[in-house]
Amino acid sequence: MERVRVNGRGAARWRRRGHPWIYRSDVVEPAGAAGAVEVADENGSPVGTALYSPSSQIALRMLTGDVTEPDAAFWRGRIEAAAALRAVQAPDATAYRVVHGEADGLPSLIVDRYGKHLAVQLLSAGLEVFREEIVGALVEVLAPAGILARNDVPVRQHERLPRAVELLHGSVPERFEVREGEVRWLAAPWSGQKTGAFLDQRENRTRAGSLARGRGLDAFAYHGSFALHLAGGCEEVVAIDSSADALERARENAALNGLSNVATVEANVFDRLREEESTGGRYDVIVLDPPAFAKTRASVPGALRGYKELNLRALRLLAPGGHLCTFSCSYHVGLDRFRAMLESAAADAGRPIRWIEWRGAAADHPAIIQIPETSYLKGAILQAV
Ligand code: SAH
Repeated sequence: MERVRVNGRGAARWRRRGHPWIYRSDVVEPAGAAGAVEVADENGSPVGTALYSPSSQIALRMLTGDVTEPDAAFWRGRIEAAAALRAVQAPDATAYRVVHGEADGLPSLIVDRYGKHLAVQLLSAGLEVFREEIVGALVEVLAPAGILARNDVPVRQHERLPRAVELLHGSVPERFEVREGEVRWLAAPWSGQKTGAFLDQRENRTRAGSLARGRGLDAFAYHGSFALHLAGGCEEVVAIDSSADALERARENAALNGLSNVATVEANVFDRLREEESTGGRYDVIVLDPPAFAKTRASVPGALRGYKELNLRALRLLAPGGHLCTFSCSYHVGLDRFRAMLESAAADAGRPIRWIEWRGAAADHPAIIQIPETSYLKGAILQAV
């Protein structure tokens, strides 16, 4: 292995804070090529072994505090541990995350299971070097019928890696049926968002379903996965999204579940909620699951204005006793800001709003407390008094 030397601040991130990322600005002596490297501090004392990315701001992703070249047994061991955690959690679904990157000691690796198939993302240049070993370990540990790489994500550009969707093993169908608790929906692993679906919201969808009654609203519905859970307990559900394509799949999903009480509306949620407000719309349960409004720290103030407008309008649309399930997947909008935004929206709504509970990503997307980046999804359930 090549050796990379880092300054005191870089070494302390791992040794003292337990955070696996060391930034380019803290590297004093880089390596030549991507792959596994030995990391040493300025005195030459070993820090451990890391994945090295020559062009990314995140130059090093620590794998272990030992100096040891990752071999087949290393990858197999980490994947086995990740799979064992999910076996304990036993998600009541056929689609769930098996490897959540840094939180599973496998930095920049995502593995999602869709029944017998896997959809993976290799998100750093250092990891990409071990593609064969990782595929080998996944086949050995999880015995999938096929593995698809959804490596078409923009972050690969920071790593100077090509963006592509590639079949890595066996075969993977265009679509498969996922069971999620009481509900079934179709995932599109080759073309859908993320690896084909938003698996991080799985437990929140079931929770929203438990609050369903009367009229339901699923705003930012994608292929209707919240709407399907609401439809079991609601008389009618309105699913809003700006994507006609996503809504077409929402209608197919409703039919798959034998549901005739889901209406789809192709619209901008901001406009639609404003219209609903002016025409006196009333809902007993509302879900707000917008895309990440704050992609960078600089965009946080604008994002908070967007979140507040949505939440204020949704709170005004709640029937007495109605519930709002509201989410933000912006990493840069932390718990404090999210809660402050809701407080301010509730104050402007001019009605007492009961705090029911915090929500986060499903348990198969574990968070490591020392690695804040592993927990980006936050949510709350509120109730109009
Ligand atoms: N709730 C979904 C995931 C939603 S992802 C689930 O659990 O599966 C966010 C969705 O918001 C995407 O489908 C995108 O098409 C839609 N979207 C983004 N901006 C929008 C806007 N301004 N109005 C309506 N839909 C929007």
